[in-house]
Amino acid sequence: MATHRLYYDDSFLRNFTARILSCSPVAPVSTPSGAVPVWEVLLDQTALYPTSGGQPNDLGMLGEARILDVRDEGEEIAHLVDRELHPGDVDGCVDWPRRFDHMQQHTGQHLLSAMFHERFGLPTVSFHLSSDLCTIDLRGPEPSADALRGAQRAANAIVFEDRPVNVRYGTADEFAERGVRKEVDREGILRAIEIEAADLQPCGGTHVSRTGEIGPIQVLRMESKGKQNRRIIIAPRAPA
Ligand SMILES: [Zn+2]
Repeated sequence: MATHRLYYDDSFLRNFTARILSCSPVAPVSTPSGAVPVWEVLLDQTALYPTSGGQPNDLGMLGEARILDVRDEGEEIAHLVDRELHPGDVDGCVDWPRRFDHMQQHTGQHLLSAMFHERFGLPTVSFHLSSDLCTIDLRGPEPSADALRGAQRAANAIVFEDRPVNVRYGTADEFAERGVRKEVDREGILRAIEIEAADLQPCGGTHVSRTGEIGPIQVLRMESKGKQNRRIIIAPRAPA
């Protein structure tokens, strides 16, 4: 049974109740203090984000169980926890400082990628974020120091305008008509993130609801990644 992804429509949901569909032991994980037993839990719905598309998984709790990992298994989301859970309902909570940091960095990445594409014709081929670093890989010629500063300045102007960030649903054709640059080969209804009057990008991740919540964006440096790609390194968020 497909797991209903509560974060698709409410990225700010921190607490939720779900039905446990199954809980089964899986291979233990090794830690500095020895092997730790692990169970895999499937739920009817979840607010916990699995590692996917450059955004790391959430952490948090399911009842008394600590979440060790959240994995995207196609239709289902697997929660790996440190103790067995019994059938019935369970209260879940999301480790919010970690998630909000990911939402800020991820939305900032959308915005900065849009500026690099729109102003300098440099498309984003991938990105990666973690609690202490966000990188964006661009394809194309090396941007000048002026171009880097220009993209950063343009992105920060939109941060200060505090524009709405909306979730949109539509087909690949509908998004293409609205100017989505990314090639999408998936069928059916897609989810996209719109930064008002700045960007529309298919994405299944979690994002803030206004650009002001991103906070200041600072490009730290650029590195070459092979012949074709450039890696942009963005400063981590200031600790809350
Ligand atoms: Zn996204």
